[in-house]
Amino acid sequence: MSATVGAPVSALLADGPTVSFEFFPPRTEEAAATLRTTIAELAPLDPSFVSVTYGAGGSTRELTHRLVVDLLADGMNPVAHLTAVEHTVEELTAIVAGHRDAGVRNVLALRGDAPAGVNEPMRALKHAIDLVHLVRDTAGPGTSIGVAAHPEGHPAATSVAEDRRHLAAKLEAADFAVTQFFFAAEDYLRLVEDMIALNCTKPVLPGIMPVTNLAQIERFAALSGATFPGWLADRLHAVGDDPAAVRAAGVEVATELCADLMDAGAPGLHFYTLNRSTATREVAANLGLGD
Ligand code: FAD
Repeated sequence: MSATVGAPVSALLADGPTVSFEFFPPRTEEAAATLRTTIAELAPLDPSFVSVTYGAGGSTRELTHRLVVDLLADGMNPVAHLTAVEHTVEELTAIVAGHRDAGVRNVLALRGDAPAGVNEPMRALKHAIDLVHLVRDTAGPGTSIGVAAHPEGHPAATSVAEDRRHLAAKLEAADFAVTQFFFAAEDYLRLVEDMIALNCTKPVLPGIMPVTNLAQIERFAALSGATFPGWLADRLHAVGDDPAAVRAAGVEVATELCADLMDAGAPGLHFYTLNRSTATREVAANLGLGD
């Protein structure tokens, strides 16, 4: 069992750089088996924490809770994502209390987007900062609260400067942030500099998505508003017909990005695993993590 089980992420970050992984709750037995294998293969890297996403509009309410509880029982340190959209304050309070009572010490508080097909979603809490306050009030001081950060600005923000002001206020109320994935270290470093300029020095963990599939990453980037840079597209399209070569190039690019971020003093690395371990393990091995 890892020494980090049930530890607030803020305490782990205070101790030095963290390594963490994001999973999503599987919906089929086959997907659950894949995730179990992935978790077993990533365990030797001794992650500081693992985070579990929350489906749009509460669609994985039970699945997310069950997975964080299982991870805790397996000796991992889970962070439960929670989105406010399409929930009442009473529902959100009950979900946070459920995590707290199960011994989960970390919540990633998100606003969330409208579920597919819903034009005017219910927003009892309008912004993520409102959920940060609800989690703080419900879970108490032993719980660490993370928030989302968008290095290139949230896609719906009227300006990057305005988004930064909202992020600084939200992050001040929380304990740490995790970023959307990005491909240029400068985008992350600019965000951190902007936070410092706004008197916010809470840790911001860079989110890393190793590219394993060209079509998939282009779709994700379009959905999340992350720029898919021309130099990266050229590098991957050059080997586009060969899936193994795309993966190898993606791992190389992610390794270079992680090395630059660590050199620049990032407080840790958070990997978007998509419930697979291979690319993340290869990047970690290249960086000498877990040795
Ligand atoms: P907010 O911080 O509320 O920001 C949303 C927008 O409102 C921004 O444009 C911001 O500038 C603006 N804003 C904020 N505060 C104010 C204010 N006071 N006044 C006016 N404008 C304001 N989605 C899921 O459904 N499930 C997940 O598990 C999930 N996990 C994620 C994990 C990470 C690390 C990230 C980066 C994103 C994740 N998302 C997830 C996506 C997230 O729900 C969306 O990006 C959503 O559009 C915004 O969420 P937020 O928490 O950043 O919102």
